[in-house]
Amino acid sequence: MKIDLSKLSITTAHEHLTRGDFSARELAEGYLSVIEKKNPEINAYLEVFDDVLDQAHEADKRIADKKEVGLLTGIPLAVKDNILIKGYRCGAASKILEGYHAPYDSTVIQKLKAQGAVFLGRTNMDEFAMGSSTENSAYGPTKNPHDTSRVPGGSSGGSAAAVAMDGALAALGSDTGGSIRQPAAFCGLVGFKPTYGAVSRHGLMAMGSSLDQIGPLTKTVGDAEIIFNAIRGKDPNDSTSRDFPDSSKKPLRVGVLTHFLHESQARSIDKQVFDNLGEAAKIVGDFGETVDIKLSDNPPLGYSLATYYIIMPAEVSSNLARFDGMKFGALEEGGNLMEDYFKTRGRLFGKEVRRRIILGTYVLSSGYYDAYYNKANVVRSLIQKTFENIWEKVDVLMTPTTPTPAFKIGEKTNDPMQMYLADIFTVTANIAGVPAISIPSGFAEVDGKKLPLGIQFMAPHGREDILFEIGKKFEKISS
Ligand code: GLN
Repeated sequence: MKIDLSKLSITTAHEHLTRGDFSARELAEGYLSVIEKKNPEINAYLEVFDDVLDQAHEADKRIADKKEVGLLTGIPLAVKDNILIKGYRCGAASKILEGYHAPYDSTVIQKLKAQGAVFLGRTNMDEFAMGSSTENSAYGPTKNPHDTSRVPGGSSGGSAAAVAMDGALAALGSDTGGSIRQPAAFCGLVGFKPTYGAVSRHGLMAMGSSLDQIGPLTKTVGDAEIIFNAIRGKDPNDSTSRDFPDSSKKPLRVGVLTHFLHESQARSIDKQVFDNLGEAAKIVGDFGETVDIKLSDNPPLGYSLATYYIIMPAEVSSNLARFDGMKFGALEEGGNLMEDYFKTRGRLFGKEVRRRIILGTYVLSSGYYDAYYNKANVVRSLIQKTFENIWEKVDVLMTPTTPTPAFKIGEKTNDPMQMYLADIFTVTANIAGVPAISIPSGFAEVDGKKLPLGIQFMAPHGREDILFEIGKKFEKISS
């Protein structure tokens, strides 16, 4: 059978594979030929693995023997360059990790291997996951397949572009402040950030350890659920991971966050994004009750971005101390040990990474710790309490995923503040640790091009079931 990659989901591909309509090898070959054609322009992949067909062959053997066949057996996936796969290069798109090979499998990869998934390659990203456009990669920007003059979002932009160009059926990304959901929105995909702790971070290169989560970028909500179920669960190698009990409360009330920004921030929200939120609220009204949640009644939510940009760099400055030229990857040699450090870290880290290390060191320094880091932690707990109050009124909270559709390559690179504002709707879920999903919600018309938009739903801790249920209903009506 001729494979139409643009129409496949994990669910349908699994049916075809188990029915014998095509083999895992043929499916993998389909993706490899798209990658060969499109990757030189899009730059979604930093590396395509040389053993893809061997992996597919193993999956075909399982399917033929009807042994250990799961929903992901033979499914071709792309993996962000900060998730370790044993024996392969892994570099967080940074020069400082040039030459580094992963010595072990991350827990998520172990779990996907157990199902017989096929890994196509590692995808481009903002260096160490710091950014919203994939322009901070040391290996050049990734382009948005919907309009190649625009960014795919970030930091998991390579993973998003890989799926959007039909160069993978689904992908793994990491989300510290929106890095799965924002690129998913820019590329017309579903992007899902699990509850903090629901998925093990073992083998994920740490950016902000109290915020980071691994999650899927997929074409459908059902596919995101399949990958989540495959990778979730308590892991002895990550003491912050845990199992969440299954719940059965049915979602009914959807809070729509209105008047959601302070005056000064509201100016950067695109009119088409506002209108799209209204349309999405109407769709949701078809199957649930919508309730207005006002920012003015929940003031701490307005400080999410400021809180994030203190806590995250503080954790970055500490997590990235390990890259000193000795332990991992590349070394720029100086005349003595101190010079080794200065040269390696000064030359091999990119500008944004250095900016955040300096910011983080500053907010943690003894003179400013109370003024910034401590205060941000106090606000963080206020934000968490605000969510507890909101969950008494509604079952999910809905916002746009991004304040604008995909922006032009180069448009925000000289203005970090503008770039940080791209995360205004997504960081809140990481600060509170709650699960959040971005779902395609239509298009904006810009310069004669149709650019995808996303709508975000957030739910209480451990209640991803609500997100999948609402998401499937929303996706059905909106598509
Ligand atoms: N864009 C955000 C940042 O630059 C989020 C990054 C992320 O989620 N990894 O911090």
